[in-house]
Amino acid sequence: MSTRILIFDTTLRDGEQSPGATMNTQEKLLVAKQLEKLGVDVIEAGFPIASEDDFNAVSMIAKTIRNCQVAGLCRANNLDIDRAWEAVKSAKHPRIHTFISTSDIHLKYQLKKTRKQVLEDAVAAVKRARSYCDNVEFSAMDATRSDIDYLTKVIQAVVKAGAKIVNIPDTVGYIMPFEFGQLIRSLMENVDGIEDVIVSVHCHDDLGLAVANSLAAVKEGARQVECTINGLGERAGNASLEEIVMAIKTRKEAFGCTTGIATEQLFPTSRLVSKITGITCQPNKAIVGANAFAHESGIHQDGLLKEKLTYEIMTPQSVGIPESNIVLGKHSGRHAFRDRITELGYVLTDEELNLAFKRFKALCDVKKYVYDEDIEMIIMDEIYKIPEKYKLSYVTVVCGNMTIPTATVRVEIDGTVHQNAGFGDGPVDATFKAIRSIIKTESKVAKFYINAITGGTDAQGEAFVKLEEKGVSVIGKGVDTDIVVASGKAYVNALNKLEFVKRRKIGAL
Ligand SMILES: [Zn+2]
Repeated sequence: MSTRILIFDTTLRDGEQSPGATMNTQEKLLVAKQLEKLGVDVIEAGFPIASEDDFNAVSMIAKTIRNCQVAGLCRANNLDIDRAWEAVKSAKHPRIHTFISTSDIHLKYQLKKTRKQVLEDAVAAVKRARSYCDNVEFSAMDATRSDIDYLTKVIQAVVKAGAKIVNIPDTVGYIMPFEFGQLIRSLMENVDGIEDVIVSVHCHDDLGLAVANSLAAVKEGARQVECTINGLGERAGNASLEEIVMAIKTRKEAFGCTTGIATEQLFPTSRLVSKITGITCQPNKAIVGANAFAHESGIHQDGLLKEKLTYEIMTPQSVGIPESNIVLGKHSGRHAFRDRITELGYVLTDEELNLAFKRFKALCDVKKYVYDEDIEMIIMDEIYKIPEKYKLSYVTVVCGNMTIPTATVRVEIDGTVHQNAGFGDGPVDATFKAIRSIIKTESKVAKFYINAITGGTDAQGEAFVKLEEKGVSVIGKGVDTDIVVASGKAYVNALNKLEFVKRRKIGAL
């Protein structure tokens, strides 16, 4: 059996279904390019039938990415499969990923089909997909709550029908590692021809076991793991890519397997996904959290000074955590700025570079040191933004302890200027109210917070606003040295995202 574990990244499909993680096509493309650099084997780029935007993003990624397989998800019906193929066909290595539920609970309540019908649908779907390409993956949705004999029968049938990869998802994050290991072993022993296909797993983290379950399956012969950057995904999320990869690498003797991941790209990838989605990792997150390599205890620090191995099982450098930030400032020229951007992994056109450089210079006037985080925020804010129906062109506030906080704002809606004022419990509240008096919205502010991107009182403020409307949620972000302006930008950005998202439909696996 091969000892190479394929890493199937579904950040752009399952991860993107995470509340507030919606990305536009340009952002998805940026993440896909970084995933290629990271060395994932398969990028699941989206669910092409879900919406026009999903379709376009998958096609664009298929046309751009050359070193990874690009997969499109589809349910087990002709329309879905045809659409998925249409989106991925220009990829250098296309893959069709089709799925249907196999658990009685899904059959009865969701699909309203018999086991026999579902089995036939699964086989027909695989055959249809195979008529387009050899690289076909089949997923038995809710496999871990399915009757094992029936699941075995379905997997047997799709292998016979020509599926090259069979995926066993723990869709609801229900199974225990020892049970999952047994399930995979049972399939390996009881499905004829399984040695000629790749067994894959796809785990969710509802009980905090997605990574443990995936690794238990690898131990029993699974050779593809589906996972996401930062464990982003539906509900509690998917198995975290960085944790899977570093477990297999750090405990090589326990698994006897390898992945093709360039592990020093893990941290940059994690950071990029956080910046784009606005969903940051908790500081104690394994591998990529801010404190993952910080040793506070005196005994540990003493031990580390004597010998790294005393308390360190892997080095921060091995996952790409930089030792120091190179700092730019007022005297840094265009050349240094461009070099730094390239080193950070961004590819900008001349026009985009001009825009970013102008903003960088403006920042240098108000801030002595410009850090990598500042540059990334400029790029996110200036270059990779969603279509702007609304634009905040002016904001001024009056506040203090002897006045009612008042804000005057000017907002452009599709190019037409509107102006109004509002007051509130604080400058941010007043700003939001003034914006809301111009942009009529039914959305509610579910969360609002501000981070200082870098240290010092001249730091740029990074504001996040989470909006909710009829079950849809988005996170907007804004950056400025003035935190009230940053907050206003974040609010308008969230309203723009909401407009964008409302046009979309979302599917699940
Ligand atoms: Zn999933």
